[in-house]
Order: sequence, then C-alpha cells, then structure tokens
Amino acid sequence: MPDPVVVLIEDEPQIRRFLRATLTGQGYRLFEAPTGADGLVEVGSRQPDVVIVDLGLPDVDGIDVIRRLREWTAVPIIVLSARGQERDKVTALDAGADDYLSKPFGAGELLARIRVALRHAAGASHEGDESAFKVGELHVDLLRRQVALRSTEVRLTPTEYKLLTILIRHAGKVLTHQQLLREVWGPAHTDQAHYVRIYMAHLRHKLEAEPARPRYLLTEPGVGYRLAVD
Ligand code: CA
Repeated sequence: MPDPVVVLIEDEPQIRRFLRATLTGQGYRLFEAPTGADGLVEVGSRQPDVVIVDLGLPDVDGIDVIRRLREWTAVPIIVLSARGQERDKVTALDAGADDYLSKPFGAGELLARIRVALRHAAGASHEGDESAFKVGELHVDLLRRQVALRSTEVRLTPTEYKLLTILIRHAGKVLTHQQLLREVWGPAHTDQAHYVRIYMAHLRHKLEAEPARPRYLLTEPGVGYRLAVD
C-alpha cells in the first residue's frame, strides 16, 4: 500500500513544522497549504487520504473550507481548533468534518485520530462486514444483537441498542449531540438534546463499571460523545 497522503491547511508555521516532523517520520506524505484557497487547490490536485484543516485561516473560515470540500469529496477531514471553541468544533462536525484536535495536541493524539480516520475511510467501502465490536470487556455481536460485559449478557432497550450501534459504526470518532439525535431519533428531534444525555446515562449505567468515570462511552465536553476503541 502506498504511503497515505495528508493535506494540511494551516497558516501557523510552528504547527505546520510540528505536523511535518510527526507525519513524515511516520511515513505519511504531507502537502501543506497556508490559506484556505491554496488548501482547496491542494486537495483537488493531491487527492489525499486525509485532510487536516485549521479553523482560523487568514483568508476564509475553516468551516467554509469544509463545506466546499464536502460538495465533492468524502475524504476524512480532521479539524484543528483552539481549546475552548466548542461551538466552532460542533459547527465543523455538523458541516461534515470527521473529527477534531484541540490545540495544543500531542503527536500520539494526532496519529491516533489519523488512524481512526483512515480506518473509517477504508471501512466505508465494505460497510456491513463488521459483525462484532470489541473494546476492553465490552463485546457486541451485531448479527445476534447481543451485548456482553465480562461475558455476561446485558439487556438493552431498543433505543439504547440503537444508540450503541451508531457509536459503534463511528467508533473512535466524535459524534455531536445533533448527529446522535438525527441518527437515533430522526431529524424531527434534533432539538431534544436531553434525549442523548438520558440514554447515554442509561447505557453507562449498564455498560460501565464506574458510570461517573466511563471507560468506553466518553464525553467530549461541549461537543458530544466518542466510543473508545482501545
Ligand atoms: Ca490559524
């Protein structure tokens, strides 16, 4: 398999330097663009496996770059944003970004996010092949619709099970409250954020040894939830 290609759209030289060192050291081919306009051209010409977009660009809003890309490509998009800008992250995810990293972030976190994005992109072409999900002591048999924790079957309601399967389909990626509401309850219920909180609490109570300190069903503060993959 050829080395994965990454296009980085980021105006800050020190962040570009950090990503260049991290990614080229791991065998990725990196192409850099300092503006949104350059970034759109780079993505069009390089056909990357992953795009990383900074939300604070000098010429256009990073959100607009995501929307423009989503008009023609399903390439995984990871957003870079300043810590504390939760609303921007949610807007970016709802505009079609796959994940985000809050600055400052470490090399391990960056590489993990890229691996998840690449795995999902590879899996998208043969969706349905994955009939089981395992993380830690949580086992879900998607064919038999059976959930087990430490080999003991756990009974879930249909809504709890649906919420869990959506998280499994996007395992490792963050999902916004809006995305979860739309997928589990339908587009008419996207303003019922408390549904997600209530059912997530039910799931944690059934699946987590310590519901207040979850091991699997992780909270992304102000943004949504992420199912752990390791
Ligand atoms: Ca910036």
